[in-house]
Formats: sequence, C-alpha cells, structure tokens
Amino acid sequence: MSNATGDQLLTLTLLNGEVRVFICVTTRLAEEARRTHAMSRTATAALGRLLTVGIMMGAMLKTGGDSVTLTVKGGGPIGQLVAVARPDGTIKGYAVNPKAELPLNEKGKLDVGGVIGRQGQLTVIRDMGLREPYVGQVNLVSGEIGEDFAYYFTTSEQAPSLVSVGVRVGERVTASGGLIIQPMPGCQEAALLLLEMRVPDYAELSAALERGTALEALCEEYFEGLEPKILARITPEYRCDCNRSRIERALVTLGRDEIEDMIKLQGGAHMTCHFCNHEYTLEAAELRALID
Ligand code: ZN
Repeated sequence: MSNATGDQLLTLTLLNGEVRVFICVTTRLAEEARRTHAMSRTATAALGRLLTVGIMMGAMLKTGGDSVTLTVKGGGPIGQLVAVARPDGTIKGYAVNPKAELPLNEKGKLDVGGVIGRQGQLTVIRDMGLREPYVGQVNLVSGEIGEDFAYYFTTSEQAPSLVSVGVRVGERVTASGGLIIQPMPGCQEAALLLLEMRVPDYAELSAALERGTALEALCEEYFEGLEPKILARITPEYRCDCNRSRIERALVTLGRDEIEDMIKLQGGAHMTCHFCNHEYTLEAAELRALID
C-alpha cells in the first residue's frame, strides 16, 4: 500500500494564531523502527505512536541543539519505551522488549494499552541547553499514548491539547501519523467547539493516510473554516547519532575498575547501541588508552 506523501511534519496556526497545530505522517520512520528492532505488530504500533508524538514535540523546541526525551513505563510486557527527538525532525527510539505481543483487544485492535501497561508514568525531559533540563512526569491514563500525552500537556504544561496518534501495521507499517492541537489562551469558544466536534475525524488520521490522502488535503478538511496557515514543513527521519567517541565517553563514566575488569575478563568491550543496534568493539589496548 502506498501513501501519497512521504514522511512530513507540518506546523500550522488556525484563526491567526489562536490555535497551534502539529500534524505529521511518520509511516517510513515507524517502518524503519520496526525493521531496526525486529518488532512485533503491537510493539511497532506502541513505539510508532511514541515516535510520532516525539516528532511533534521535537518541533516544539525552538533552537537547534536541544532534544526532548520521552519515556513511557507502564508495567506491561513491552517494558520501557524511549524516544529522543530533535527540532530538525530526527528521532530515535527503542522498546526494551520489542517482540512483546498480545492478542487483539475487545475492539479488534492492536492492544497498545495492554502491551505498554497502565500502571506507571510518562516522563518528558526537555534539554534546552540550559543548566537544568526541564522534567515533567504524569501517571499513565490508558497506556494508549494519545490520551496519556493529552493528559500530560494539560496537567504538566498547563496547555490543554488534543492529541491523536495512529499506526497501522500488518507485515509492515502501512500508515502512521498524528496530530497535536493546542488552543492558545483566549481562543474563541466557537473554534474550540468546532475542533471538539471533529475529534472522531482526527482519530481516523492513519486510516486516511493509508488510503493515500495527502497531508495538505487532510489539513484543509480537518480545519475547514478555521483559516489554516502552514508555517513550517520538515521531513522527519529515523536517525541514530551514536558514534565511537560517544561510546567511549559512556565507558569512561563506568570508572577505572570496571574498565580494568573488562580487559581482564573479556579482553575488550562489546557495546551495542540501544537505538540502532550498531555494535562497537573496543580492543584491550583502546580500553587501556581510555584509562590513561
Ligand atoms: Zn546508535
């Protein structure tokens, strides 16, 4: 199945800035995550939803060097999920148990809430390049990601938001996308009502993408009568930024004794990046150089 637009993220305003909107297609990057981690269907949907929110929250950051890290831990079989996004549209993520799977739920849908679990927290760490990162945390509502982030924005950022994310996955990801709608303080009541009325449409975003509807066409339909204006477009991408020197720095933080043990017991170190599964091997001589 094809989707007419490739991965894309649009930032819009409605009604001359009364409402801020992020809307995105993330089909390719969700598929890339599935392949990278050899994930089950439900795990793909779970991580795909988190990556989709992550792409939009990355776009909320203002300057280039910063990042936002999303962590979801709900006590379900998938274990912890992590996503790290940057404002340039790059993102990486992983699930502790990528093969976790459950039967379809009572609605006949992938049981994302079940695989994530509902007893736990959602944590957002925003590194703004300041001394202290901003950390926000809320309890999970349903483990379905969309509702959990809507609750997070309302309670932790005092920015009531409508959040909808969806991933359709069979053998591979056929459609993935989402939106975040944030009315600014003082937004007119009529606009809020109109947006609320269209919530059932927004919930069908991934189905519309699967049918091949272009993102711009969806924006026209979703925000008809609300003067949508596109402010920015970026192409989101799954990309890991690990490298050898970063791995070496991580090793150094383990301390001298730990590194000496690695030399003695293993004759070197084997490290695998959680985000892309790239393997790094450091010979004993390289480890000795790190100690010095
Ligand atoms: Zn990596």
